[in-house]
Amino acid sequence: MGTVNEIFGINVFNDEVMRQRLPKETYRALHKTIDDGRRLDPQVASVVANAMKDWALEHGATHYTHWFQPLNSVTAEKHDAFITPTGGGKIINEFSGRELVRGEADASSLPSGGLRSTFEARGYTAWDPTSYAFIKEHTLCIPTAYCSYSGEALDKKTPLLRSMEAVSRQAVRILKLFGRTDATRVIPSVGPEQEYFLVDKKLYDRRSDLIFAGRTLFGACAPKGQELGDHFFGTIKPRVQAFMTELNEELWKLGVLAKTEHNETAPAQHEMAPIYSIANVACDHNQLTMEIMKKVAGRHGLMCLLNEKPFEGVNGSGKHNNWSLTTNTGYNLMEPGDSPHESAQFLLFLMSVIKAVDENQDMLRASVASAGNDHRLGGFEAPPAIISIFLGDELTEILESIEKGTDYSGREKSDMTVGVHMLPKFPRDTTDRNRTSPFAFTGNKFEFRMVGSSASIATANVVLNTIVAESLRQFADELEAADNFQETLHDLIVRTIREHKRIIFNGNNYAPEWVDEAARRGLLKLDSTVDALPCYTAEKNIRLFAVHQVLSENELRSRRDIGLDAYAKMIAIEARTMLMMARREILPAAVKYTGEMAEAGNRIRQYDGNLPRRAPDDLVGRLCAGCDALQEGMDRLDEAMRNQPGEGDFLESARYMHDVVLQRMTDLRRAADGLETVMDRQSWPFPTYDELLFNV
Ligand code: ADP
Ligand code: MG
Repeated sequence: MGTVNEIFGINVFNDEVMRQRLPKETYRALHKTIDDGRRLDPQVASVVANAMKDWALEHGATHYTHWFQPLNSVTAEKHDAFITPTGGGKIINEFSGRELVRGEADASSLPSGGLRSTFEARGYTAWDPTSYAFIKEHTLCIPTAYCSYSGEALDKKTPLLRSMEAVSRQAVRILKLFGRTDATRVIPSVGPEQEYFLVDKKLYDRRSDLIFAGRTLFGACAPKGQELGDHFFGTIKPRVQAFMTELNEELWKLGVLAKTEHNETAPAQHEMAPIYSIANVACDHNQLTMEIMKKVAGRHGLMCLLNEKPFEGVNGSGKHNNWSLTTNTGYNLMEPGDSPHESAQFLLFLMSVIKAVDENQDMLRASVASAGNDHRLGGFEAPPAIISIFLGDELTEILESIEKGTDYSGREKSDMTVGVHMLPKFPRDTTDRNRTSPFAFTGNKFEFRMVGSSASIATANVVLNTIVAESLRQFADELEAADNFQETLHDLIVRTIREHKRIIFNGNNYAPEWVDEAARRGLLKLDSTVDALPCYTAEKNIRLFAVHQVLSENELRSRRDIGLDAYAKMIAIEARTMLMMARREILPAAVKYTGEMAEAGNRIRQYDGNLPRRAPDDLVGRLCAGCDALQEGMDRLDEAMRNQPGEGDFLESARYMHDVVLQRMTDLRRAADGLETVMDRQSWPFPTYDELLFNV
């Protein structure tokens, strides 16, 4: 490979390429669209399309695609060659402005949650010029949003773009009140840290659960897990390093700012963190990152597991969503600032997040809900299913002294009147900061840690942007009407602290006492996807998303239903996989082995009836009991699967899968894991945890 400088962005139609290849006029017009969200002139689009095509052909592309993110958490692409016949058996390469800007997508098999019936399956894709086009495997990919002909969003990007507009609109109102008229747009910036597991491909191929469910559905814990803490930040093994090196190269070529790589807490677990970027670009890049991770792993004889909880007993994987608001003049609104004036402004933005999170715990929890993530949230290692905010002791004390009007006795003593006093500098990103909180302030950004490792970050950021937009809207309404800005601001901040301080918790979120304490504070605890998703259509949330024109009631309902449906289907796949493995692999192996051991016992008896026989007898007894328990578990799970409620009511189906099927899956697993621990290694039908986790 060339140097990083040489390869970075070589497969991206980025600003530099545009400047080089577009006429000045076109370049300027396109920039207006990118920077100010102006509509693009069709003539301009034609020129851009032509330049894009020439560039793509020079870089070996033969096809183009509108690349979009449908509602099932993957990306969709349908490739079209550039070729057009010219008669006489010849072709030329063509790509028109219309083809760039808008695409027809007959995507009847993608989920729409009832927004689009299959007989009128057409939707259309629309170019998102704020995210650069790129070449992937001989195809020019054009990032797009995907809508129905009635304008309803059928994807994850459309509401993300709308929510970015919403929060910008309200934040600019606030900035105006502080005299910051230079900022005309506010942009949510996001840095998603991606966790993943790597396992050996040959071992993976022998486990149906990994193949069909993406996680192990059986498996006794290995003798060693993560208790020594020796994997986190540990030396990276050569095979993993080779994977990471190639991953970085591939991502850099695509303009993804891959920055940090390290071993994570669980054995075989790793992380890649990019440098943050604009929310929609961060989202596109994260989707690409997941795709490239899987692809590159294959080249190294590895499989990359993105499931939230691939292994029981060790950490699961998440995607820490670092989020802040930045003005188009480059000023981070989540940064305390250097003057009393800036401190006051920072405090107001801080309060907008605190109020938003407290008032919308339900939507935040719902935004990360999935079958996989349920196993992680509330597991001992992951942020629990209760939302709270970590602010750190210093900032918490400051808020207390502002609320009570008392002296702040921190490093820089002062009485902390908003607008008059300056905030001290907070330690940023210190290593001893709280890692158990689901939502942590880390000096100049918030880190939302509940997002699952396989999920698109779009949904979480749609919710974050929108709920903060709503707090800011209420603040702006009140402050714009105020006679005395300073006084009203102070009162507003004091009142917001008083009303929402219950959401602040700096202690250990994993401690069982926190569950009781949170209940006393009246915080929501939504344990499962089935508890969380119905809140999409709560009266309050329909109003919230309508006010900011992010999602209509129909769009919310469709997302709720798709989520519940996906949940029920995923559990059904897992249950069927378990039954298949138990019937066709585990039980036959266990019965055969039991017979062999019983025979061995008999032979010992024949050899000398007076020999002590505890070992074979005990073993055979335990194996027989284990086989019976397994059979019982299979029968009960099978029965549960046969008695599923009829299709139609998504909530009822999902609830049944959660309350009945999931429980019986756990029972079946216990029986199988019990057998695994008494059978000999050669007789067990598939690779075990110790092999999977410690083999790479
Ligand atoms: P840690 O693991 O300690 O949380 P990392 O370095 O792994 O830290 O990840 C921090 C992430 O936060 C990076 O993706 C970084 O780019 C991102 N980040 C830093 N500043 C901001 C900001 N202002 N807005 C959004 N994300 C940010
Ligand atoms: Mg990190």
